[in-house]
Amino acid sequence: MRTSHTHTPTRFCALCQKAIPTGSRRRRWCSATCASIGARLLHRGFRVERCRARRCSHFVVAPPSQRDRFACSRSHLQQLIREAARAAENRARRNEAAGVAATWTTDERLAVAAMTGATPSCVYCGHLLVVRADGFSGRGTPTKAQFGVDHIISLAAGGTHDARNWVPSCGRCNRSKREFSIADWIARDIAAGREPHARLVLGDLAAGSGAWRRDPQTGEIYLANRSALVRP
Ligand SMILES: [Zn+2]
Ligand SMILES: [Zn+2]
Ligand SMILES: [Zn+2]
Repeated sequence: MRTSHTHTPTRFCALCQKAIPTGSRRRRWCSATCASIGARLLHRGFRVERCRARRCSHFVVAPPSQRDRFACSRSHLQQLIREAARAAENRARRNEAAGVAATWTTDERLAVAAMTGATPSCVYCGHLLVVRADGFSGRGTPTKAQFGVDHIISLAAGGTHDARNWVPSCGRCNRSKREFSIADWIARDIAAGREPHARLVLGDLAAGSGAWRRDPQTGEIYLANRSALVRP
């Protein structure tokens, strides 16, 4: 039964999680005691944040040092920790599947992103990349789908994990290329009846200018400004 009084959903005290009595004019606290403790905490830099557990409508008082794991209860905190662990596991699995046994520091990633200028883009397809100066993990930061560092010659194919072998690439190209050389990757896309991911590379080769060149002897594709880069 719905009456006009029950339209407002139950609100819960941001401090003790008890339901706030209906008709109370307090918005965040259940009682005068919680209100005075809450006010003192807010004064000290604590914030009122929504519980991050899915479909939870509770609010919590978050300490200034806490970043993004706000939970109203122990069980919701455990749920958030489990979700974070699962996400990390999936990331690790994807990296392993892509042959990425290597890691990059934030500074290295930023340097790689800057290789294509002020608006970083994928060297293979030209897709614009989202890059943030404050790192590459956590909420609201780019996922692998948006920004990745690729080894031109994959580690699985004997490439080295150093700057000469790094390029900024989008997650789609990164995942599609895998351990293939660029020439084999393009050939594989064409054989599958797809438009090759590496559109920029094909454009440069067709024009005979630009960043990408093909070695007439070996057929290998390389970056002109990194002529020292050779297959090991
Ligand atoms: Zn309370
Ligand atoms: Zn919750
Ligand atoms: Zn791309």
